[in-house]
Amino acid sequence: MPIEMPRRLPFSVDTWSQNSNIKRHHFLTHAHKDHSQGIVTHASYPIYSTLFTKALVLRYYPQLDDVLFVGIEVGKTLIVDDPDGNFAVTAFDANHCPGAVMFLFEGRFGNILHTGDCRLTPECLQSLPEKYVGKKGKAPRSQFDYVFLDCTFGWSPLKMPSKESAVQQVVNCIWKHPDAPMVYLTCDLLGQEEILVGVSQTFGCKLYVDNEKNPECYQALELTVPGILSRDSSCRFQLFDGFPKLCERAETKIAEACANFQHEPLIIRPSAQWYACEEEGNSEAENRKKGIYGQAVRDMSGVWHVCYSMHSSREELKWALQLLAPKWVVSTTPSCRAMELEYVKKHCFNTRKTLDNFHFELVDINMQDSSAPEVSIKCLIWLPLKQLANMIQTISPYQRILQLQKYQ
Ligand SMILES: [Zn+2]
Repeated sequence: MPIEMPRRLPFSVDTWSQNSNIKRHHFLTHAHKDHSQGIVTHASYPIYSTLFTKALVLRYYPQLDDVLFVGIEVGKTLIVDDPDGNFAVTAFDANHCPGAVMFLFEGRFGNILHTGDCRLTPECLQSLPEKYVGKKGKAPRSQFDYVFLDCTFGWSPLKMPSKESAVQQVVNCIWKHPDAPMVYLTCDLLGQEEILVGVSQTFGCKLYVDNEKNPECYQALELTVPGILSRDSSCRFQLFDGFPKLCERAETKIAEACANFQHEPLIIRPSAQWYACEEEGNSEAENRKKGIYGQAVRDMSGVWHVCYSMHSSREELKWALQLLAPKWVVSTTPSCRAMELEYVKKHCFNTRKTLDNFHFELVDINMQDSSAPEVSIKCLIWLPLKQLANMIQTISPYQRILQLQKYQ
């Protein structure tokens, strides 16, 4: 779930609430529902997004007005007029789902990279301006003041294959089951169409997607890859809902095939969730299977899993932070996930820094009356910025220091 931007910034990113409504500019990184939640009630002009994201959001929420949106495409920079000083914004591919971008904001408030949801591969990083990307052992020429970072899997030791490798694993799994009369793919999320395309191209077939059961998925596929859709419900390749109760539905499908003396259908779930999720009651054997990332793995319900992730692995985040070397990292996934990352612990968390007006102004803290010139600002990483600002505004300068230290 996205977080609110600090009060002093004139823009919001992916949040649609009373607070974000006060902002003068709004940015939408991609069309996943958790990033557009509340948009119908709290949408106001201008909303910057890619044309693809706009098209999809307008399909999801037809009551939204087209004129609210301002287009910004990958690699393009716009200068945004603002009474507190104009700023530049540039969009970069987030390697997450079709239309998804990261935004780079450059203005009087500093240089801020907001990744939205992203999978920060080396290629993805190389598309950022050269001055912000260091080389191994060499700091970048310009440092980001803040990176608002998608840390979804920052806590997990998962060794994630690349998306391309995961698509190949799905294809291999199908090759290995030539007798399966039906192949069900749980690829109903925007961003998983690469898998459907890979399967369609390899096997020279189209896929059946039930428009009535999966209207949003169907709409997205119609926009992205219309050529792979079939209206024939007897197709061997079909889209299968990932939720709810996938295991039970899979067991039922397999049991039905057995009862009719047919070969089992093949049910493949390309997702990182099963690998990342430590469910209680899982057997040791089941947990061991989760350590296999190079090929599809069958679980106890008969579902085949492939580790396909649209978010960065911890390894990728580590590598990205080493090259970007930002001053501060704020996790856009709640619970302060950035703290799981070595870079943050070493460079942001454990450093005592002289107060820097920029950082405190950003979180709307007036330190003019503070008698202490130096405090640890570790808590910036721990607390959502808004919460921190609210907390500090209600207490005296002396208490502020104590309170700040309490969070070290
Ligand atoms: Zn997303």
